[in-house]
Amino acid sequence: MGLDPFLDKTWPMTAVIVDDRRTKYLNRPYGRISRNGLKTHLLQECTSHGVEFHQAKAWEVKHNEFSSAISCSSGYELKANLVVDATGFSSPFVEYDKKRNHGYQIAHGILAEVNCHPFDLDKMLLMDWRDSHMDSEPYLRPQNSKTPTFLYTMPLNSTLIFLEETSLVSRPILSYTEIKRRMTARLRHLGIKLKRVIEDEKCLIPMGGPLPKIPQSTMAIGGAAGLVHPSTGYMVVRGLELAPVIAEAMVGCLGSTRMVRGRQLRHKMWSSLWTGERKRAREFYCFGMEMLLRLDLKGTRSFFDAFFDLDNYCWEGFLSSRLSLRELLLLSLYLFGNASSKCKWDIVSKCPVPFVRMAGNLAIQST
Ligand SMILES: Cc1cc2nc3c(=O)[nH]c(=O)nc-3n(C[C@H](O)[C@H](O)[C@H](O)COP(=O)(O)OP(=O)(O)OC[C@H]3O[C@@H](n4cnc5c(N)ncnc54)[C@H](O)[C@@H]3O)c2cc1C
Repeated sequence: MGLDPFLDKTWPMTAVIVDDRRTKYLNRPYGRISRNGLKTHLLQECTSHGVEFHQAKAWEVKHNEFSSAISCSSGYELKANLVVDATGFSSPFVEYDKKRNHGYQIAHGILAEVNCHPFDLDKMLLMDWRDSHMDSEPYLRPQNSKTPTFLYTMPLNSTLIFLEETSLVSRPILSYTEIKRRMTARLRHLGIKLKRVIEDEKCLIPMGGPLPKIPQSTMAIGGAAGLVHPSTGYMVVRGLELAPVIAEAMVGCLGSTRMVRGRQLRHKMWSSLWTGERKRAREFYCFGMEMLLRLDLKGTRSFFDAFFDLDNYCWEGFLSSRLSLRELLLLSLYLFGNASSKCKWDIVSKCPVPFVRMAGNLAIQST
């Protein structure tokens, strides 16, 4: 995707620790994007292509048949043939025609200077599901067994490390205080002493739930358009991948001599982003989220144990939303066949409602 110049650091390998006995090494490099580097590059690209900026808060968006107007906090009214909303998941400008039942990824992360840490410098640790740090703090165990969290780490050198305690998905949302408590217990157990916290972050990502009403007058991208991966919370790369798709559709409609506007424009824009295949695949990822919400620590471990045993093509494709519906269905059959009996039982006993909902939605979308 041409992101290499904007990577702060890369690790040649990625690891997943399932429990005290099982660690998986994924033959796949991992990179940390430089936020400033990428943002600067995107802004430079905009200015060099004649994009004009107006700094203000958008208050209201009004649509007429062939044009729209945005009222801004600066007092300006901006007129446009098409408004593309990038104000995130909680946008007031995007409409929904179904109840929003999303889950949340919540995490507490720090970039810190530490006395030492036990992690290999050539490996990014995607997930560490161990809970042995709770032996000395057993009061944390019951809730962690029901709503587990894992550690995500990027070791930058022997004394500089990014550490993040993460709840992959919860509903209702797991408390931030609880996450911080678990992280403190984990670091104490690992013998990691913080010398200086350079950055800390509270991560809260709404995931899954229905897509916005399609089509509608305001076009959207990013969280506002439902682009967050419902089972992983990743979005940045997906957004960068799909932005050119939206741009091309826009050029196709507004750049042609017979300008396409109004209802036809909105319809073309939304269907360029959410094609039938992408919508169906998203149904499947939403089912993945619903399943993860229902798995306890044992079930989650068993699921990821089987998941990362899949072919690279399958798990990489799942994490980056690149699999077709057919591939996703084959993957789920394989996963189910290879899951432990406990995990199979959890899926059969706890997931029939989301499964029926997914099947119903897929059937509606195929008609
Ligand atoms: C701590 C943290 C770590 C994360 N790590 C990752 C990661 O590693 N990989 C990944 O893929 N995702 C990650 N995410 C998730 C990712 O950041 C979000 O999915 C993504 O930022 C959503 O992008 P967006 O552009 O849709 O919305 P946002 O990033 O929320 O941006 C919306 C912008 O619109 C502005 N805005 C809002 N309302 C208005 C208004 N009325 N008028 C004008 N402007 C407005 C806001 O100020 C903001 O600048 C992380 C999130 C957090 C919080």
